[in-house]
Amino acid sequence: KSRPNDLSAFWMPFTANRQFKSNPRMFVAADGMYYTTAEGRQVLDGTAGLWCCNAGHKRPRIVEAIQAQAAELDYAPAFQMGHPRAFELANRLVEIAPDGMDHVFYTNSGSEAVESALKIALAYHRARGEAGRTRLIGRERGYHGVNFGGISVGGIVNNRKHFGTLLTGVDHLPHTHIPENQWSRGMPELGAHLADDLERIIALHGAETIAAVIVEPMAGSTGVLLPPKGYLQRLRKITQDHGIVLIFDEVITGFGRVGAAFGAQRFGVTPDMITCAKGLTNGVIPMGAVLCGSHIHDAFMQGPENLIELFHGYTYSGNPIASAAGLATLETYREDDLFARALDLEPYWQEALHSLKGARHVIDIRNLGLIGAIELEPISGHPTKRAFQAFLDAYDKGVLIRTTGDIIALSPPLIIETAQIDRIVETLGEVLAALD
Ligand code: PMP
Repeated sequence: KSRPNDLSAFWMPFTANRQFKSNPRMFVAADGMYYTTAEGRQVLDGTAGLWCCNAGHKRPRIVEAIQAQAAELDYAPAFQMGHPRAFELANRLVEIAPDGMDHVFYTNSGSEAVESALKIALAYHRARGEAGRTRLIGRERGYHGVNFGGISVGGIVNNRKHFGTLLTGVDHLPHTHIPENQWSRGMPELGAHLADDLERIIALHGAETIAAVIVEPMAGSTGVLLPPKGYLQRLRKITQDHGIVLIFDEVITGFGRVGAAFGAQRFGVTPDMITCAKGLTNGVIPMGAVLCGSHIHDAFMQGPENLIELFHGYTYSGNPIASAAGLATLETYREDDLFARALDLEPYWQEALHSLKGARHVIDIRNLGLIGAIELEPISGHPTKRAFQAFLDAYDKGVLIRTTGDIIALSPPLIIETAQIDRIVETLGEVLAALD
C-alpha cells in the first residue's frame, strides 16, 4: 500500500530525514522566484530548487519549447540515429564553454556525468597505450553524486561507508578551506601550495598509475567552500606536468552560478573535462553532460579500442525533449544576460550576506557570484541542529534556504532582485537572532 506522505518514495530511506517524512513540505506550483505551497503560501526560493533553476521557475520559453518538442519529435534513439536539437545544444554548449572544450557527451544527471567522465578518462589513457593509469583522485568534502564512482571519489565518508570497498585505487586530496572570502575581497594568492598534496600522492603511487583528478572547482553541496586562491591553477599545472586528466565537476558551479558560464572561466583554469547538469535545463528536465577537449574526445573515440569494443551511452542521452529544454534554457540565460547579472549582483549579495557577521552563532560567511554560505557554530553533539532549525524558521517566514551540517547555503535564481536579496537576509537575521 502506498503511504502518500512517505518521502522515501523520493529519497532512499537512509537519507530521509525523519522530520521530513512525517511533515513533508509540499510545493504545488512555482513561478519566477516563488514556490506556492499546498497551503497556498508563497515561498521565496533562496536555493533555485536544488541549485538548478538558475533562470527562475516556469520560464515561458522553456515551457513552450518542451511542449513544442513533445508535439514534434518525442524520442529518437541515441545510437546510430540522431536529431537536430541534440547537435544544436552541443554547439551552444561548446560556444559558452571554456576555449578548447569542443565536445559534448550527454547524460541524464550529474551523477551520470561523473561516472561517464571517470570512464572516459580511463579509456583515454588506454587508447594512448597507458592502460596502467587507473587510479583516481578526489578531494575531501567533494560531492560527485550518488553512484559507485561518484561516492568513491567523493570526499564524504558517510556516503560511502555502507558500501564496502567501492572503487579501489582512489585517493583524496585533503580539505583545504580557508575561512573568509579571498575571492571577492581581493586577497592575494595564498593557497597554491595546498595543492602540493597532489605531488605527494603522485610520488607515492607513480604518475604512470594515475588516470584523473576530479574536484568541484568550488565545493557546493558540502557548504560552499571556495578554493584557496591559486589552488586550482596549481592542480592544473601538476596534472599537466604528469599527464593526468583534470576533471572539474561543475554540476553546481556551471551555468552562471559563480558569475561566469562555468567556474573554470571564473577561476581562470581550464580542465580537460567538465561535468555539468542541473542548470543545463534549468532543472526542468533531467539532463547532464560531459564537456571535453578534442585531445580527450579523439583518443576516446578513435583509439585502438574504439567504441565498438567500448560501449558507453544511455537510452535517454541527448533526448529531443531534454535537448529542446536545454536550448531554451541557454537562450533564456543569454536573453536575460544572467551570467553577467550574477557577477553584477555579487557586490550587493556580498554586502548583504556579510551584514550578518556578528549575528548570533555565525562563525563564517562565504560568497561568490550568486552563491553563499553562512556557517553556524554547531551545538556540541548536535552538528546539524542549529541550521536545521534555521531552515524550519525561515520556511515558516516564507523563505526557502538549504542546510548542510550547520552551514546555511544560499543559491537563488539568477533573476533575483535586490529587494528579494534584502528579504532573504532580513529573514535570516530574524531567524538567527531567535536561535538557541
Ligand atoms: N556533482 C555535484 C558537484 C553535485 O552538486 C551534484 C548534485 N548536487 C552531483 C554531482 C549529482 O548530480 P545529480 O543529483 O543530478 O545526480
